[in-house]
Amino acid sequence: MDGIIVILSSPSGAGKTTLVSLISEKENFINSISHTTRKPRSNEVNGKDYYFIKKKEFEKLIKNNEFLEYAEVFNNFYGTSKKPVLENLKNGKNVIFDIDWQGTKQIRQQNINYKIITFFVLPPSKQILYERLSNRDMKDKLIASERMKEFYKDVKHWKDYDYVVINDNLNKCYQEIVKIINDSLSGKKIDYDKNFIEKHIEKITL
Ligand code: ADP
Ligand code: 5GP
Repeated sequence: MDGIIVILSSPSGAGKTTLVSLISEKENFINSISHTTRKPRSNEVNGKDYYFIKKKEFEKLIKNNEFLEYAEVFNNFYGTSKKPVLENLKNGKNVIFDIDWQGTKQIRQQNINYKIITFFVLPPSKQILYERLSNRDMKDKLIASERMKEFYKDVKHWKDYDYVVINDNLNKCYQEIVKIINDSLSGKKIDYDKNFIEKHIEKITL
């Protein structure tokens, strides 16, 4: 059987990287490791969190058509290598992506012959989002406030996703995502309250 593609996107700091790690650790998913021109955070490891490369190398990869998708996000470049992803899918492995809305759109536009399920992850509130960003980017408060500024723009893209989830309690959110994936694969009706999500978005974008 072919593998499937699961994509998680969110405003920065909502927790998609944490959720993707959890899902790839505990479920039958391979985490797609992106290339980026961003500098590593203190806890990040090259080859595990990202392949950290210089802009010149990134441009070479673009030129050689090695990316399945790529985009500029917060003044840095991020991209997914085509080869490992397509090989894994062909070999029946499921692949999970932590990429932004631009990359999600590009993957969808390619009409790849594999099932794609997309999730948009929201924070419980703007205050909590700011706290998460500030804790993560401890050394640079400017980064947290820069990323908060993009929140209103980023959050608008929830409409392009199959499902929207709220990452309040990490374990609960992880279980909700896994349940939706499993229900979707087995053709079950998905228990999903879109009304509640719309109200939540209204609340956090006031
Ligand atoms: P993103 O990838 O969406 O930018 P991260 O996964 O890096 O976000 O999470 C941002 C910060 O919030 C990290 O420090 C992470 O440990 C923390 N975090 C993620 N999910 C939760 C949660 N449910 N509760 C509390 N902290 C969380
Ligand atoms: P961060 O710098 O916080 O790790 O990621 C910043 C943004 O870039 C996030 O929205 C993340 O999902 C996105 N991103 C990470 N890797 C890729 C990628 O390969 N392609 C695209 N399009 N976006 C990515």
